[in-house]
Amino acid sequence: MARNVCILGASGSVGESTLKVLRAFPEEFHLHSFSVHSNLEKAMKVVEEFQPEFLCITSEFADRTKLGSKYKNTSVLYGASSLCELVKIPEIETVVTALVGAAGVLPTVEAIKAGKKIGIANKETLVTCGPYINHLLENSNSILVPVDSEHNAIYQLLSSVKKDSVERILLTASGGPFRTLPLEELSKVTVEQTLKHPTWNMGPKITVDSAGMINKGLEVIEAHYLFGFPYEKIGVTIHPQSIAHGIVETKDGASFVYSSYPDMIFPVAHSLFYPETVPKVLRYYPATDWGKLEFMDVDPERYPGLALAYEAGKVGGTAPSIFNAANEVAVELFLQKEVRFIDIPELIRSALESVEVTYPVELEGYLKADFNAREFIRNSRNKKVLPLC
Ligand code: NDP
Ligand code: MG
Repeated sequence: MARNVCILGASGSVGESTLKVLRAFPEEFHLHSFSVHSNLEKAMKVVEEFQPEFLCITSEFADRTKLGSKYKNTSVLYGASSLCELVKIPEIETVVTALVGAAGVLPTVEAIKAGKKIGIANKETLVTCGPYINHLLENSNSILVPVDSEHNAIYQLLSSVKKDSVERILLTASGGPFRTLPLEELSKVTVEQTLKHPTWNMGPKITVDSAGMINKGLEVIEAHYLFGFPYEKIGVTIHPQSIAHGIVETKDGASFVYSSYPDMIFPVAHSLFYPETVPKVLRYYPATDWGKLEFMDVDPERYPGLALAYEAGKVGGTAPSIFNAANEVAVELFLQKEVRFIDIPELIRSALESVEVTYPVELEGYLKADFNAREFIRNSRNKKVLPLC
């Protein structure tokens, strides 16, 4: 019988990759339910194609009259809190968290409490409250299977390499569209230039994150909470071709590399089939076609956000929550053309210096830090102390 899948954020880039995998394996998976935030057109197309049991629309501004009682077989739920109810439905086997931002935290927490297998794409959840999530997992039957390509690569490599033989794990990064731009021109880059990622096709927030390697910073923190390695053992290398996604170096000096075409269908399919293996080739890309693969060090002057992420990660507690929330607001401001690209890491730095870091046991403490960091950036903006374009 087909396994029931719930996609949170089906209208986005990872959401679409997940739908592609479901299309490729109609006998194995059934789209039981999904959410969109505001994209009702996409929601209607998905309902018509997949005939799921539930659709959840989370934006409070969504037009509730548009879908009405249009669908006989699909119930429509509204509001962010309905995600938390949705993920608990017993028939759901796997929840894919393909929604963007800290909005992923509460439904992921509920899915863990309900014992679901979670294909976790939403990296902001573990960055916001990694210690709390790991505590929950200790007392639950739930498992997280990473969908973020680097983490999925490391996860697969660690299934064949003994953890105590690992010297270091390496996450690869494309370096984004500004890898070779003269440093002095970074202050003038536009939103349009920033949204042109050289190798991956992703949503706007992660594309901006990637251009400054803040995405890699979020991923370093995510890797720390997923795999338990100290920050000293988590490295980053620039690999412009995005063919190698994760590398595990062992104590004997060997390196195990996971490689695939840069397409999210690979990690998504792995997470959906896990613990079984994906039974057919989704996209053939033989090693003989790869051409030259380059690996290079990260220039800290070009990507100051990465070092900030390491600092926040090592401080621990709510420092990563502050890093993430300040970044989310700063990226929104950049996309609205209210601050420059180079202001994003500066805003994060100021939030990390100003917002109190605590070491909570309960989720509320992490959510409070998230709230405080957002308020800090917004208030700074209102006081006009932020640099304007
Ligand atoms: P997109 O911007 O393409 O999609 C985001 C999804 O989240 C959409 O379905 C959107 O709905 C929904 N959404 C937006 N805001 C909210 C909210 N406040 N509450 C609930 N849902 C919301 O993002 P991506 O698919 O690129 O990324 C999704 C997540 O996966 C991110 O955490 C990202 O870091 C991570 N990731 C993405 C990768 C990629 O290749 N894209 C790779 C690895 C990780 P709507 O469109 O209807 O408004
Ligand atoms: Mg990634």
